[in-house]
Amino acid sequence: MKAAAYARYSSDNQREESIEAQLRAIKEYCVKNNIQLVKIYTDEAKSATTDNRPAFLQMIQDSALGLFSAVIVHKLDRFSRDRYDSAFYKRQLKKNGVRLISVLENLDDSPESIILESVLEGMAEYYSRNLAREIMKGMKETALQCKHTGGIPPLGYDVGLDKTYIINEHEARAVRMIFEMYAAGKGYSDIIRAMNDSGFRTKTGRHFGKNSIHEILRNEKYRGIYIYNRTASKEAGKRNHHKSKSEDEIIRIEGGIPRIIDDETWERVQERMKRNKKGVNSAKETYLLSGLIYCGKCGGAMTGNRRHSGTTKNLYVNYECSTRKRTKACNMKSISKDYVENIVIEHLEKNVFSPEAIEKLVKKISEYAASRNVEINRDIKLFTDQLAGVQTEINNIVNAIAAGMFHPSMKEKMDELETKKANLTIKLEEAKLQAQTHAPTEDMIRKYLQKDADIRNKSPEEQKRIIQTYVKKIIVYDDKVDIDTIVTFDGGADGT
Ligand SMILES: [Zn+2]
Repeated sequence: MKAAAYARYSSDNQREESIEAQLRAIKEYCVKNNIQLVKIYTDEAKSATTDNRPAFLQMIQDSALGLFSAVIVHKLDRFSRDRYDSAFYKRQLKKNGVRLISVLENLDDSPESIILESVLEGMAEYYSRNLAREIMKGMKETALQCKHTGGIPPLGYDVGLDKTYIINEHEARAVRMIFEMYAAGKGYSDIIRAMNDSGFRTKTGRHFGKNSIHEILRNEKYRGIYIYNRTASKEAGKRNHHKSKSEDEIIRIEGGIPRIIDDETWERVQERMKRNKKGVNSAKETYLLSGLIYCGKCGGAMTGNRRHSGTTKNLYVNYECSTRKRTKACNMKSISKDYVENIVIEHLEKNVFSPEAIEKLVKKISEYAASRNVEINRDIKLFTDQLAGVQTEINNIVNAIAAGMFHPSMKEKMDELETKKANLTIKLEEAKLQAQTHAPTEDMIRKYLQKDADIRNKSPEEQKRIIQTYVKKIIVYDDKVDIDTIVTFDGGADGT
């Protein structure tokens, strides 16, 4: 596995490990766990309060490049300064398939911790959605006036002095031509040739390519819809913005900008794009069991494979023994993808997601979460006791004054106690909040598991995530399939 290291140090906190010490620990960890360190990011802040982490942001950005599949920190608090921050950036990493590893904290891979992590992640998703909503609020002010919020405007538009969109007639002709040609059934290369022959260029002055044509054909601005979403404006024109966003992150205002394309042409283009996309997508399989499924004869991994065979050239999608594929040294027959995936899903439905199993799992996970939460609860108890003590002292002084005893020092003492009380109250509230987010209630865990229980009706990507969370290993034999899940229950969760 390839990983990047991240270390951060703020000079006003004397108790922190130096960057060198953090990196030393990370390197030791890598050697021990056979991890190849490919990149090192460090931030040295003048103060913990300055929000300046250039290397951190670079690391987040680089995580999209596929250079490393994990980021290793010495302690999790090096990764982020608070819960929101952490949820937000962890999600970014996860989207790019990059794991976060902490040298000191991530030593536990019990089934409970794996599932708890995924429950907490689900909650973090929720928090970061709220966070996104908060950020959006600020942007909304500008956006609701249908103004340009930054970056390069799309081809066909200029930005006026008041920041609203105005049509650039020359460019708009190019946009109309692209839409009309595509709607008429022309391919990308025909369109590109026609554009270049007519002397049209992209907004940045370059020749058209497939990506730029594709971006234009799916840009709803051309039918007059003002559309704003948080990330798309950052790097307009790049292809990796096809990820769908949740509705509440997007602002759409129909008729918000002058239109270039009529509805009929737009619809025809979208129809055709959808048809073409279907062709592409059906050629790509999501192998739900990859990395988990092994050959029972030779122990080799089984990998997904599609082929057309027989006289009718029917399509067969299978898992095949990789040893057999490579060397023919194993005679294991391949197994149908649909067949074996269905066995695994059925097994999960019966043994992990049955109502009885879920109840047991909920108990186990919440016990585990509670045990992890001991420290926070100890803090809560400590602060509650201290608070009670302070309150007693306050009461004593009040009673003394009421009884007619007064000394000038009482006023000073009283002020001191009130300050102490306020500080303790804040600390207590913080600890309680932490307890809530670190220890989900049984009900939250149950809801989360029940969501996964509906595995059969999920998208292939979701099915894969669920299987990869709950299944440890699948071994295929000639006459049976063994499934090892990370949790087992009485009544047989082992084997099928
Ligand atoms: Zn084999």
